[in-house]
Amino acid sequence: MLRRESSAGSELGVEIGRLLAAGQLVPDAVVNGLLAARLAEPDCRDGFLIDGYPRTVEQAVHLGRVLRELGHPAPVLIHLDVPEEVLLRRLTARWCCPRCNTVYNLVTRPPRQPGLCDHDFSRLCQRQDDTMATAMERLEAYWRLTNPVLEYFTSTGAGQVLPVDANHSPDAVFAEIRSAIETQVLIPSRLRPRAI
Ligand SMILES: [Zn+2]
Repeated sequence: MLRRESSAGSELGVEIGRLLAAGQLVPDAVVNGLLAARLAEPDCRDGFLIDGYPRTVEQAVHLGRVLRELGHPAPVLIHLDVPEEVLLRRLTARWCCPRCNTVYNLVTRPPRQPGLCDHDFSRLCQRQDDTMATAMERLEAYWRLTNPVLEYFTSTGAGQVLPVDANHSPDAVFAEIRSAIETQVLIPSRLRPRAI
């Protein structure tokens, strides 16, 4: 959502782009406003997955309020737990194709030919916020602002936290997320897939 607003070129978008490039957090008021508008759209009526939000306790409180207003149950948080040195290795190994947006990782998913996209042979680029200095800043912000979100949800019961050991391959992590949701989350009956 932030990247879309940023590339839309609005005044707000330009400011968001500047903050993202510097690895800084976009102010809560901006993110909260974008999120509330997006969640009110019809395709979110039966549920949705948000990636990378809430990143602060203030955002978590806001999310709870928006969900209540829209008549949704309390949120379920999937917490992907990875050792810090592994995170840094992954973040700085990430490259992507400027044409088709395929994401590669030199550690876990290298391109077949070094530096070129498998699909269209475009030269791969590194996102500005995937360099080491920026990755360190993001980790610092995580410990200061985002980790308290887990404490907020577990201590107040405002949401359910599903910890997932994510120090595995993408396929293994996907399987673990799926099984955690299937075994630990109560899904309202109207949203369960119907048996055929
Ligand atoms: Zn490509």
